[in-house]
Amino acid sequence: MFTRFAPSPTGFLHRGHVLSALYVTAIAQKFGAKIRLRIEDHDQSRARPAYIDGIREDLEWLGFSWDAESIQSENQERYIHFLKLLQEKNLVYACDCSRKFTFETNPQNADGEIIYQGHCRNRKLPFSKENSVRFKTPDEIIKWDDLRLGHFLENPKQQCGDFALKDRLGQWTYQFAVVADDFEEDIDLVVRGEDLRVSTARQIALSQALGRKTPPLFFHHPLISDPTGKKLSKRDHVASIRGERDAGISPETILGEICTAADILPQFQPLSFEEAAKKLGIVLNE
Ligand code: GLU
Ligand code: ZN
Repeated sequence: MFTRFAPSPTGFLHRGHVLSALYVTAIAQKFGAKIRLRIEDHDQSRARPAYIDGIREDLEWLGFSWDAESIQSENQERYIHFLKLLQEKNLVYACDCSRKFTFETNPQNADGEIIYQGHCRNRKLPFSKENSVRFKTPDEIIKWDDLRLGHFLENPKQQCGDFALKDRLGQWTYQFAVVADDFEEDIDLVVRGEDLRVSTARQIALSQALGRKTPPLFFHHPLISDPTGKKLSKRDHVASIRGERDAGISPETILGEICTAADILPQFQPLSFEEAAKKLGIVLNE
């Protein structure tokens, strides 16, 4: 069994990512799963090589270890293959709606996300470079169980409508790349922050369209914030792990503070990555 830690190299790691990496490690240990580090540079307009190296270096510095590694920019053939498959099944269409037009002509869900109503669904536009590609999201209820949050019944058609798989700049979207990769890389256990929970039903629907029989198990972990809901770091001027590292703060201090903020430790104590993951594992087993 494989799980993954999947940061996007659009910036350096911050403490929220580190909490995710701790959860990935603790849950992988619980399930006897291996860990893949997947660098999610699907959006080439935002990814930076310096962040890719920086993420790896900072993860090593913290003591996170992984068994396999991949980077989305090397998966082009995979995405092209899956898109072709969806075209053959008539499950996608081209769309020339601008951002402005999309916002003006579609409702939004409670999170402020567009629920795309299908303006271009029957326009038969060409799959050309300047058009985006949208998925014909099935109008059906997806049933799924979160290992932490329980049972969900959600209709992705109502949550987001026909979502994009490729944007008008030719970039693969997060939703498409992540589903294609989780399928091809045999990821059976997805551990990530609960801010991504809303993506789960649409990802399951898309994975079924790609031919995946059994979706992965999902565990969406709580996010860290202080009791007033503010961002975790007391030192607002050092928002990234790289910044904290450059300021001379040790990995043990960072990890101890993260566990304290996440209510895993009642009182701060410095911890190695392994110790922090172990503490988290004990909490999970309760
Ligand atoms: N790349 C995504 C992020 O950094 C995480 C993807 C996922 O875990 O599904 O937010
Ligand atoms: Zn359109």
